[in-house]
Amino acid sequence: MADVESFALDHTAVHAPYVRRIAAEHGQAGDTISNFDLRLTQPNESDIPTGALHTIEHLLASLLRDHLDGVIDCSPFGCRTGFHLIVWGEPSIDDVASALTSALQFIAEKATWADVPGVSAVECGNYRDHSLHGAREWAAKIVAQGISRDAFSRVV
Ligand code: ZN
Repeated sequence: MADVESFALDHTAVHAPYVRRIAAEHGQAGDTISNFDLRLTQPNESDIPTGALHTIEHLLASLLRDHLDGVIDCSPFGCRTGFHLIVWGEPSIDDVASALTSALQFIAEKATWADVPGVSAVECGNYRDHSLHGAREWAAKIVAQGISRDAFSRVV
């Protein structure tokens, strides 16, 4: 089986919340795609419940694109401690952390149901499993902790 970088990370050595560059991949046509680890809660100590994580996912899909160029996809980890972010090019960790902080600040302080995209049965695969209340509480907690620019030591 292929080696996967994410499973080589020592999840007991990191200090969330943080942004970590996982890899930059270079395609045959000369394009570059970067993959980031957006870790919102401390692995094996805390995890975001599904409804809140699902609503954060829908909001980040829109909000990250408002704050960062070249976003391809932002998808939750199965362990519910954060997200993978896939982007064109090689934005800096600081650019990504700033965009994530702005997005989470909006969720914590301003988001209403009208701001959450794609929450009908037509647009979402599990539209009943959302929690804006939970999303706002978790976003506020994460913003208060600060998004570190280093996974292994706190650089906020
Ligand atoms: Zn959905």
